[in-house]
Amino acid sequence: MLSDNHKNMVYTIYANEVAAIIPTSDFNKAYEIGLNLLNKMADSIAIDRYQIGILLNGSIVQYPLHIKDSNDAIKNSAMILDQTINDFGLHEYNDEMERKSRLQGELVSELLHAIKENEFHLVYQPKISLDGSEQLSVEALLRWHHPYKGTISPMVFIPVAEESGLINEITKTVIRNVIEQTLLWKEKGLDVKTSINISHRDFNHKDFLTYIQKSMAECQIDPSFIEFEITERGVLERNDNIIKLFTNLRDMGIKISIDDFGTGYNSLIHLVQVPMDYLKVDRSFIINITKPKYQKRIQRLISLAHDLDIKVIAEGVETKEQLDFLKDMNCDIVQGYYLSKPLEADALEAFYKNRV
Ligand code: C2E
Ligand code: CA
Ligand code: CA
Repeated sequence: MLSDNHKNMVYTIYANEVAAIIPTSDFNKAYEIGLNLLNKMADSIAIDRYQIGILLNGSIVQYPLHIKDSNDAIKNSAMILDQTINDFGLHEYNDEMERKSRLQGELVSELLHAIKENEFHLVYQPKISLDGSEQLSVEALLRWHHPYKGTISPMVFIPVAEESGLINEITKTVIRNVIEQTLLWKEKGLDVKTSINISHRDFNHKDFLTYIQKSMAECQIDPSFIEFEITERGVLERNDNIIKLFTNLRDMGIKISIDDFGTGYNSLIHLVQVPMDYLKVDRSFIINITKPKYQKRIQRLISLAHDLDIKVIAEGVETKEQLDFLKDMNCDIVQGYYLSKPLEADALEAFYKNRV
């Protein structure tokens, strides 16, 4: 299948994984054979009325340079595939991958420890309603204070938590803390709605909805004080049960935001079935708002969202110029360093007190 050389062999590893041994001392040749194989599978073939092509992800390791036996070969190939998910192509082993993989392994055990010892805390970034019609609202953002590595960014640890399944425990902690903080603010006379970032990995956890219902009932919090942010990518990856889940959450009074809009398929049409209240336009769009091409796209998006009864939040607003454009475009809510960085809970109280 791979060449005329009868020593080439193909093995099945899992139902959706095969391995090939290509005996040659010429790495470039082996690479070319592997790449050809991937490309061949991507060529579409007709089955009934449908054109079907299969996108494959591949890894290539060299013996004896990177592996000493077949176990090593399988382990290293799996590691490469893990680190290159959705990046279809043929990926070569390198030492950096090994280092990254080791660090991720370390991070998983440290995350477990962090959950037990509660090394997390939340900061809150205000969202400002441009016409003042919306209730005060903030987004809860997680911080991890590692005992000796310092503060670790959620951009680093959230993907590891998702991959390892620890995200469910982390999300539960965030939900609990947000409810407590919201009630505390309320006692002090500050009515603030807080949004919580939810991973798409939380949806397939069967007691997710039950956990939320139970926590809200126990704490007697009005669910309209809570919002969930789910990324556009997360929504598109799990479209099946999401509609039911979001409908249930909204029926309870919880608001739904689609986060990082523009970084996935970048089209509201794909999301038309998805029950939602807010659309958060990603910072990568806002950064370019001074360019006419982007202005048109953002303007069209805002109009379409309004037609669908969805409010638009612009994230990552860093300058007055960006804010002015957004005001002109009838954007509903803005968030970003120009208005405020994420704040500690008590600094947030001061932020709102100073504004009235
Ligand atoms: P995100 O949900 O898109 O949050 C916005 C990120 O942009 C935050 O970074 C925020 O601090 C930052 N940001 C806000 N305004 C500006 C601005 O004007 N300019 C720039 N350059 N950045 C701005 P952060 O806190 O580091 O969080 C990064 C990501 O980690 C979040 O992106 C979110 O995807 C994830 N994350 C944070 N907390 C949680 C959490 O509790 N649960 C889950 N599942 N994910 C979380
Ligand atoms: Ca968010
Ligand atoms: Ca975002």
